[in-house]
Amino acid sequence: MDRQQPLLGRAALITGSTSGIGLALAEALASAGANIMLNGLGDRDEIEHIRTRLTREHRVTVLYHDADMTQPDEIADLVAQTHKAFGRLDIAVPNAGIQHVSSIEDFPVEKWDAILAINLSSAFHVIRAAVPFMKDQGFGRIVNMASAHALVASPFKSAYVAAKHGLAGLTKSVALEIAQHGITCNAICPGYVKTPLVEAQIGPTAKARGITDEAVISEVLLAVQPTKAFVQYEQLAGLLLYLVSDAGASVNGAMLSIDGGWTAQ
Ligand code: NAD
Repeated sequence: MDRQQPLLGRAALITGSTSGIGLALAEALASAGANIMLNGLGDRDEIEHIRTRLTREHRVTVLYHDADMTQPDEIADLVAQTHKAFGRLDIAVPNAGIQHVSSIEDFPVEKWDAILAINLSSAFHVIRAAVPFMKDQGFGRIVNMASAHALVASPFKSAYVAAKHGLAGLTKSVALEIAQHGITCNAICPGYVKTPLVEAQIGPTAKARGITDEAVISEVLLAVQPTKAFVQYEQLAGLLLYLVSDAGASVNGAMLSIDGGWTAQ
């Protein structure tokens, strides 16, 4: 095993990897030597720039598929194309997700449907299509991107919390089914991570409440996070790299909190 590139020859698919956590995890897997299938929305030129940069910097093959996570047929094609391109599929990270904040009585029905489709059902479609390949190989690592909201709730996030709790159930059920095939299925449950999505909320919230950016971070965003510090990309990457390694082979069906103590309360 190459110590620098322990995942050399492995093939990884990360949904929603054109931004934020997914992109950081794709980069971590590439730097460990895995070939990567990127997926997600965004400007085509920017995505192509990401793809060529990862290829160049990590000397692995990086491809992109534009499957929309609300479309089961497109997700099935994403998984099939990943296997076709690399001849295997070792690591699947259903990560794509969106958020909408609203009281239950005003929650737009189309937002509920989109959140359930992207944050929950897309993971089902990825796993359903990936497991046969993983069974044939006798090896697979499925790592669902859940959230602290897979374990506890917050108000005004009914669809997100419901979808992430659903993802917890999916994770555990799949883990029991695949346990004797060299495959594991786990979920990472991060607290707040300073992704572009979260970052964009700081300025407007500070303005709306008449407080500083720092106060928004510690008193609003990180109110529930005891460390009062965002979870870092490198910390999520470290957990993912452990889960996909041989050392992670007995971790199965676990909801792995990485939230600064949020869900200990
Ligand atoms: P982000 O907005 O930076 O990234 C989301 C990714 O999903 C993007 O690549 C986007 O293009 C993709 N995506 C959205 N809708 C899609 C669709 N219909 N089809 C295909 N791709 C689509 O957000 P993020 O913060 O990096 O979130 C990534 C995951 O991490 C989500 O599942 C989110 O729930 C979870 N998470 C985030 C935090 C946080 O604090 N940021 C905390 C816990 C869990």
